[in-house]
Amino acid sequence: MTSSAVNTAHPNPDPLTLEAPDHPVLIAESIWWVGSLMGDDSFQCHVYLIVHGDNSVLIDPGSVLLFPIVLEKIQKIIPFNQIRYFVCQHQDPDIAGVLPIIDLRPDRHPQATVVSHWRINALLKHYALRMPMLCVEENGWQLDLNGRILKCIFTPYLHSPGAFCTFDEATGTLFSSDLFGGFTETLHLFAQDERVMEGIRFFHEHYMPSREILLHGLFKLESLPLRLIAPQHGSIIPERLIPFVFTRLKEIDCGLYLMTHSCSNVQRLVMLNDLLRKSMERMVMSRDFSEVVSTLMHSAIPLLPVKTLRFHGLFNDQYIRFGPETHYRGAVAQPPAALRDRLGTPLEAWRQAEGSMLLLVPGSPCTEDAMDPEVVQTLILPLFAPGRLNVDGVATLALTEEITLDPETRAVLEQLGLPLGVALEREIIFHSLNKEREKFYQISTRDQLTGLYTRFYMRDAVARLCDLHDRGHQTGLALAAFDIDHFKRVNDTYGHPEGDVVLKKVAGVLLESVRVEDVPVRMGGEEFVIFLIGGDPKGVTGITERILEKVRALTFTGAMTGEKVTISCGLAFRGQREPLDTFMQRADMALYTAKRNGRNRVCLAEELPPN
Ligand code: GH3
Ligand code: MG
Ligand code: MG
Repeated sequence: MTSSAVNTAHPNPDPLTLEAPDHPVLIAESIWWVGSLMGDDSFQCHVYLIVHGDNSVLIDPGSVLLFPIVLEKIQKIIPFNQIRYFVCQHQDPDIAGVLPIIDLRPDRHPQATVVSHWRINALLKHYALRMPMLCVEENGWQLDLNGRILKCIFTPYLHSPGAFCTFDEATGTLFSSDLFGGFTETLHLFAQDERVMEGIRFFHEHYMPSREILLHGLFKLESLPLRLIAPQHGSIIPERLIPFVFTRLKEIDCGLYLMTHSCSNVQRLVMLNDLLRKSMERMVMSRDFSEVVSTLMHSAIPLLPVKTLRFHGLFNDQYIRFGPETHYRGAVAQPPAALRDRLGTPLEAWRQAEGSMLLLVPGSPCTEDAMDPEVVQTLILPLFAPGRLNVDGVATLALTEEITLDPETRAVLEQLGLPLGVALEREIIFHSLNKEREKFYQISTRDQLTGLYTRFYMRDAVARLCDLHDRGHQTGLALAAFDIDHFKRVNDTYGHPEGDVVLKKVAGVLLESVRVEDVPVRMGGEEFVIFLIGGDPKGVTGITERILEKVRALTFTGAMTGEKVTISCGLAFRGQREPLDTFMQRADMALYTAKRNGRNRVCLAEELPPN
């Protein structure tokens, strides 16, 4: 390097504000950035020069387009003929395009050599260069610059089969080519903070073939004593950000191109990928269906104008719907006609009939959405579980704008059909287990013959009522105890089945006479009680009188035609903190009095003695 050349280079680059340097930039000892920045292009290409006397090296020499500027920068540092090695870490035109021009330059180094991997050289040979080509793998995966060692690290398929990175042991600089590269909105030659990851993530999701392959490369590079990463695109990564970037890169998904057909909108592809990844993750990690739904909604909203999301499934021929109105808890309902015919159809038939798995219909097939003026179109997505040949469910996405689906969005949504189908199936199973549980609870809390509560249920419910009463949250609690008069005679005369009819009819009267907060109980046989909320003795007495009246008015058919039934009632009002036992005993005593006094009447219990 000549001293005059050094003086013309930028002496003190400010790494934080460097936006469009038109001068070489020293990035590490004797390593210069000699790239050229293109205005208004998020795809910047960097070229690096390692100054080592007559054995200087140009890393990723660059494109025909930018070479005049690159050359100018190089010549500010050293004469061009000191560059002996042209390292091409892969073979893209922005790296190798300039080789034929260099090859023809009269001022190139007499021993100028192209350094690459054999897979890359196999393509570069088509430039018909006169310069010799060195294969790194035949050179012990390194380049000895006469005392300074550059190590070559093979990173196959990232993103070319022969791709490799170059590590300068002297400075700890890794020339990483496309790896760690990034798209840049406004270029900062040096990454300033964690935000650099955004551009890197986009770039890797789009260019790197798969997560496994990326991890393979990252693990190799991680073992090096890295102090600086100099990629071919994006920003140079300083030592303090290196661990962060490694960690984050290991988490990303790659291979987006698998589902692209025509889309060059990387941002959208990344969003789609995000939707797919987050939804999949949620579906695997979360047992809560509403969480799955909210993740899906959240990730889908930037891509589609979704207003509401609903799921519709079939289980044991029953249609179950999951929508926002039930907080995505399943509800058995009547299926909308447009969906009824589609649920349960074979997957293949669906595909053939619609020409596609996804359907766009005007308005909405769901009643709630159809009434919403904002909903103009609905996207119907078939859901299916693995190994099943039928469409087990569908998701309906109510949209506020008319859309046309691009192939990428279509591909992502179709891919969601399987995991969502699994999530829906799981939810439907939970739903039916819940229904079973409810049924068992009903059996234990409701008497089968009469539909009144059981003694089992009464214990808990009444304890709660007494507690409210004691704390003054409830004005009063009354207990009416009933017993059918001469019921034994009914059984003896007409038989047990007719006796059951009487029990049912009397219980029906009790049920229709109480409010939901009251607790009507079948204590056993033909004995019933009702716990009535409210302290007004007149009102409560009125209720019991009306019950007796209605029982008297009951009519029967068959053998019992013309038969009349009466009941007796004992009524007690609870004193605050009165134990349940004494409360019930007082009501029983009153009932006994009613029987003794001629039946078919209401008797009031004695008042509690003042304590
Ligand atoms: P009282 O007016 O004094 O109450 O006379 P009673 O005949 O109603 O009273 P008792 O307690 O002697 O008779 C109750 C009868 O209720 C006896 C039993 O056979 C009948 N019984 C109890 N449980 C059932 C039931 O589930 N179905 C039917 N059909 N009868 C029942
Ligand atoms: Mg009895
Ligand atoms: Mg009786």
